[in-house]
Amino acid sequence: MTTQIHNYINADFVAPETGKFHPVENPANGDTIGQVGVSSAKDVDDAVKAAEAAFPAWSKLTVKARAAIMMKFHALIKEHADELADLIVLENGKNKTEALADVAKGNETVEYACSLPQLVQGTSLKVSGQVTCVDRRDPLGVVASIVPFNFPLMVPMWTVPIALVMGNTVVLKPSEKVPLTMNRVAKLFEEAGFPKGVFNMVQGMRESVEALIDHPSVKAVTFVGSSPVAKIVSDRCRALQKRCTALGGAKNHLVALPDCEMEGAASDICVSFAGCAGQRCMAASVLLLDGEQDGLLNSLIEKASKIEPGSGPGQMGPVIDGISLQKIHSYIEAAETAGAKILLDGRSWKENGANWIGPTIILHNSKDDKTMKEEVFGPVLSIYVVSSWEEALEIENANPFGNAAAIYTTNGGNAEWFTSKFRASMLGINVGIPVPREPFSFGGLYGTKSKYGDMDITGDGAVEFFSNRIKVTSKWPVQRSTSTKRSHTEMAGVKDAANFAGQM
Ligand code: NAD
Repeated sequence: MTTQIHNYINADFVAPETGKFHPVENPANGDTIGQVGVSSAKDVDDAVKAAEAAFPAWSKLTVKARAAIMMKFHALIKEHADELADLIVLENGKNKTEALADVAKGNETVEYACSLPQLVQGTSLKVSGQVTCVDRRDPLGVVASIVPFNFPLMVPMWTVPIALVMGNTVVLKPSEKVPLTMNRVAKLFEEAGFPKGVFNMVQGMRESVEALIDHPSVKAVTFVGSSPVAKIVSDRCRALQKRCTALGGAKNHLVALPDCEMEGAASDICVSFAGCAGQRCMAASVLLLDGEQDGLLNSLIEKASKIEPGSGPGQMGPVIDGISLQKIHSYIEAAETAGAKILLDGRSWKENGANWIGPTIILHNSKDDKTMKEEVFGPVLSIYVVSSWEEALEIENANPFGNAAAIYTTNGGNAEWFTSKFRASMLGINVGIPVPREPFSFGGLYGTKSKYGDMDITGDGAVEFFSNRIKVTSKWPVQRSTSTKRSHTEMAGVKDAANFAGQM
């Protein structure tokens, strides 16, 4: 009998009314470690209704009062970091250091949410005479968040804490592949003192997501996952005139110039493409070498070949499931068929059992290989030697994702040349995973496959996303006691202001 993971509604764990469950597997060995509920539209409705009922009281609290509860939650995440990291290792397969980083990075956005009382004051301006405009941020109501498998804690923390401190109530739909971590975190929300119904969770897959988007009481939706689903979610929200930020996949390019600090660059690139088994939207996917750089290439192969398999205490874990493994294999095979050279073949790790693939480095002859262009989402690095900086830029800028790009060089002017021309929204200089740290916001480039929606998902993008900007224009005519005589100019001022406000 394995653990059943239920919905979390009004601070209660409730089995889905469908009575249906889906197996959750440990990617390291294929063992079934849980059964996650498959929710119906009725289950979603129950969760949304709980969130709706909790909204009036929660939104009436001051931002400071809400942040004070979030501070307790921040302390609890820190206190339980080890336990949460063990759950991440179990259901996602990361090594323990990566799992602890997942928790710590997630808690950085919680910390940002705790600082919102210092950041979200509205603006006010005397626009004429006695007329003043005040701009304040009101919460939206019930908001929904849909998240992927690759960061079981960090990605839910991108949205939920900021949404809550801004006064919204939340329904989260975790990934059906990794529901255990947030199942534990739900109890920490309760322990921190969040009132019942403020944070809720529905389990499931496509049906739960569609029911959440379609629910008339859900005012806004955030999504993080693959590009095709991000587009589906975004289009469905737009058709209903709902606010939506949907982050999709990526194909991140790194460019190495011959003047780069070779050993540092090799270590960094290795961590970038093989860390978390390559299952990061910020992972290096393509390395463009400015001319043949045998020293860098050899150092990279040497470092990557030394990585030992092993989740938890090991160095590199498995990929999430058999479907994912199959897809990664097909990209390596496609490169081989196209005449690319496999410099390091991670398929040798198959002896470790289900879902294992080691770091793989491919040298391509053609920049048009499918493996050079599409998201692989595994520990695979495609390398291509460019003949000019312009060619490197042309390849990077032609990719449809626009998520991240980085340049390795010891020359500031060279770095400036690339960072001013890359068509991606998160750029690195000698940093292979250029994730902006709080308070800087996170998100791909608008108009590409990495981001559907206008705003970034964290930082000031999230503050804007999770609030309605309300503008109050007010005029308070002076009403002195009759004993004070009002001057002609003062009277004229009142009249002008009234006229001006009336024209707007
Ligand atoms: P996914 O798109 O398969 O699933 C994401 C979420 O959507 C899950 O909760 C899933 O249950 C749900 N879902 C799946 N199919 C659906 C459908 N047809 N309709 C509605 N909902 C559906 O993504 P994944 O495999 O869990 O995660 C990996 C992907 O996420 C990669 O492409 C990666 O690049 C991307 N990702 C992007 C970022 C970013 O910041 N841009 C961050 C993390 C992961």
